[in-house]
Amino acid sequence: HDYTKADIRRMAKEENVQFLRLMFTDLYGTIKNVEVPISQLDKLLDNKLMFDGSSIDGFVRIEESDMWLYPDLSTWMIFPWGSEHGKVARIICEVYTADRKPFMGDPRNNLMRVLDEMKAEGFTDFNIGPEPEFFLFKLDPETGKPTMHLNDNGSYFDFAPVDMGENCRREIVLELERMGFDVEASHHEVAPGQHEVDFKYEDALHACDNIQTFKLVVKTVARKHGLHATFMPKPLAQVNGSGMHINMSLFDKNGNVFYDENGDQKLSQKAYYFLGGLLKHARSFTAITNPTVNSYKRLVPGFEAPVYVAWSGRNRSPLIRVPMAREQGTRFELRSVDPSANPYMAIAAILEAGLDGLRNKIEPAASVDRNIYAMDEEERRENGIKDLPSTLHNALKELKNDEVIQGALGKHLFNNFVEAKTLEWDSYRQDVSQWERDQYLELY
Ligand code: ADP
Ligand code: MG
Ligand code: MG
Ligand code: MG
Ligand code: MG
Repeated sequence: HDYTKADIRRMAKEENVQFLRLMFTDLYGTIKNVEVPISQLDKLLDNKLMFDGSSIDGFVRIEESDMWLYPDLSTWMIFPWGSEHGKVARIICEVYTADRKPFMGDPRNNLMRVLDEMKAEGFTDFNIGPEPEFFLFKLDPETGKPTMHLNDNGSYFDFAPVDMGENCRREIVLELERMGFDVEASHHEVAPGQHEVDFKYEDALHACDNIQTFKLVVKTVARKHGLHATFMPKPLAQVNGSGMHINMSLFDKNGNVFYDENGDQKLSQKAYYFLGGLLKHARSFTAITNPTVNSYKRLVPGFEAPVYVAWSGRNRSPLIRVPMAREQGTRFELRSVDPSANPYMAIAAILEAGLDGLRNKIEPAASVDRNIYAMDEEERRENGIKDLPSTLHNALKELKNDEVIQGALGKHLFNNFVEAKTLEWDSYRQDVSQWERDQYLELY
């Protein structure tokens, strides 16, 4: 939406908005809110609102803690759920340093920087259609805390009464539509208690904003139904984890750059270079698209998640799939990404990988249309098929060896990310799990 300041003042008045939630995203992908009363609206619209950035993970040191919040007027949205105190509106903000420069520790600012590079190279839009999956667990009615009890025993495309999460999911879709989302589909996923909602693709920046808003809406509506919605990648070992497939296409002023009527499989040479870049950097952007210890428990064979670096136009199981759609719908689907990723950082890394392919004319390996899981190690080696990193630790090692992907994050985000994730790994590897006691306590 192209809202002006006057539009926003008018809508706030008409809808009795009493509070403003100023949103931005931290290094971990967590939405941060600064809530101010409506009396601060003019100050906000004039870029005169400050906040203390030192309390935000991975942001700044204490001595440089004062930051400005510049509202992105196009993101103004009134939450449909009212309260006795009037309505709450949210607006996504860009974080600026005290001397009024875009703060490069803000993942959204960083994505805007990478998108500007893309535009300087002659493209207009990087379009992103995400497919986020999540689980619904019951809340404990006494404590209000999440339990590990699932809400249903349904599975893929099941209908009520098996699918008891259906009402909750339906309300999620209605709320999203009220907020202006174009929901294309929603369905029960393969695992019990697991769901997917697909909304229409948008330009990268707004698609990331949508992912963040989506998570907030899902969690809020679930809570009203006595449920906890989690985007943790693999909450249960025995069933499929939650992914967030990323569908992507690159546009210039003539439309979809990936399409060529006369190309091999109707894909353009540029599409192949972009794909070459994605494949080349896939192992090193995995730390960003799959940033938790738990992410790697999803990337294992047997649960529909990718394990090997390969692409296919036919098979649904490889890392990158080329869906059948052509012309303006020509796109790649990256299937490794999970919803614990910071979307702004993940999309920046993915785009940079593709652009590197274009700049350096990187040809992708041949497509693999056979079932990779049926091949043995020898066959995979012969076909040049590498595997994705198996742990966060290995993924971080790959990231630290790839200057292109580091460049996609910029110095501030890269350093803070590696530092935070190394601590996370160190903490995990010092833990002794029940699995180990079950295996070794009596054996040795
Ligand atoms: P799947 O077959 O993998 O389940 P879905 O139908 O669930 O795919 O989701 C497809 C996603 O791709 C949607 O978000 C849709 O808006 C998006 N999409 C469609 N065309 C494009 C395009 N040209 N560029 C990027 N995303 C697109
Ligand atoms: Mg889908
Ligand atoms: Mg699907
Ligand atoms: Mg799915
Ligand atoms: Mg998909």
